[in-house]
Amino acid sequence: MERLIKRMFRDYYSKAFSLNESLVSPIERREFGVQFFDGLMQRHLSFAAGEELRSFLTSKVPKGVYYSSACYENPAAKEMELKGWVCADLSFDIDVDHIPTKCKQEHDWWRCKNCGYEGRGMSPPRCPICGSERMERHTWICDKCQHEAKEHLYRLVDDFLMGDLGLSPKQLIITFSGHRGYHVRVVSDEYSRLDPESRGLLIEYILGLGVKELVLEEVSGRRRYRAYPLDELGWRGRVARLLYEVISGYSVEELLEIGLSEDAARFIVRNRVGILRQLEARRPSWSFIKVIGRRNFESLVEEARFRGAAIIDERVTRDVKRLLRLPGSLHGSTGMMVKPLSYSELEGFNPMEMPSPFERFGDLCIKITSKRTYKVTVGGYKYDPASNPVGRPLKLPAPLAIYLLLKGHAEVVGDGDCT
Ligand SMILES: [Zn+2]
Ligand SMILES: [Zn+2]
Repeated sequence: MERLIKRMFRDYYSKAFSLNESLVSPIERREFGVQFFDGLMQRHLSFAAGEELRSFLTSKVPKGVYYSSACYENPAAKEMELKGWVCADLSFDIDVDHIPTKCKQEHDWWRCKNCGYEGRGMSPPRCPICGSERMERHTWICDKCQHEAKEHLYRLVDDFLMGDLGLSPKQLIITFSGHRGYHVRVVSDEYSRLDPESRGLLIEYILGLGVKELVLEEVSGRRRYRAYPLDELGWRGRVARLLYEVISGYSVEELLEIGLSEDAARFIVRNRVGILRQLEARRPSWSFIKVIGRRNFESLVEEARFRGAAIIDERVTRDVKRLLRLPGSLHGSTGMMVKPLSYSELEGFNPMEMPSPFERFGDLCIKITSKRTYKVTVGGYKYDPASNPVGRPLKLPAPLAIYLLLKGHAEVVGDGDCT
């Protein structure tokens, strides 16, 4: 299998790959790293120009290619201390792995390697029974997951980076990660020089940490029941608008689901029009708290925070020496391209329909080896486990076959050639 996939990756790097140098500029200041198919990692690489990098990739054919968000005096120095760190672009990673999507109940499961306890859905960090962190995790990325990742990307970009921070689309380098999310790099000297602590504050802000506490404090303080205007800047306005959305759109069942009591949920739905009018008023008010009580209001605010926050991977934003996937390279767990996207391309972009560089290889012969595969679309080709039985030789379009092989759900039959 490795030989077949390496052949196809080599074909991509020698024929189709072209590095848009402006996306990694200044290239000579960046550290590069690659991971090979045998699992070995090579870091501290440096290239003077894109062409040099391309011939390296064509001859070595790595499984994954990375570059630093940081710029260094000597990016090839083997010791971090000798590299001469200059700055690091503020970077964000949105990964659906960290987002609690409802469909995870259908396609994700986990088992504690210590006591054997297992469950469906998003895996807890440690076993709820014995506390062990040794967990076996099986995840799947369905079309709904991809949709959810994009929703969080929009929150990050529209609401926080462009909305609250006032950045322009030209200052953002956005890429589809090639798997289950997006990366965003901010190209701005102002932000590239931020220290890890300031980056930490930004992370808290984007995740909405402390928002609930702030609102509850202000509600019980001097501003008693005085609501935030819908057009207020930052989190206050966001909470106001999202409370409006929740109150205007949620059914009694949905309100119960987010933790409201039966009485409170019914009161809100019954008095919806009046409550919304108070939120829209010139001097808006949250006087409905008097009826539903503070605890129910807290659940509403928490829901507003949850709907407003962009779930980002903290480690990526905090770490000023981290490597990111190279735009235009292939993701070694899916065979999908790490696709650069302009802001205007985002709306029409669907990772599942993204044309695959492996299209031209036609069909491959594989067999499914795992009982835990679910529906997925790759390169526009739909896969459904119901029509692809486990263990039987199948002819599948190369983009889909490569995806299943790299994810470890299938094996090559013979040399993969169906003809
Ligand atoms: Zn356990
Ligand atoms: Zn899903």
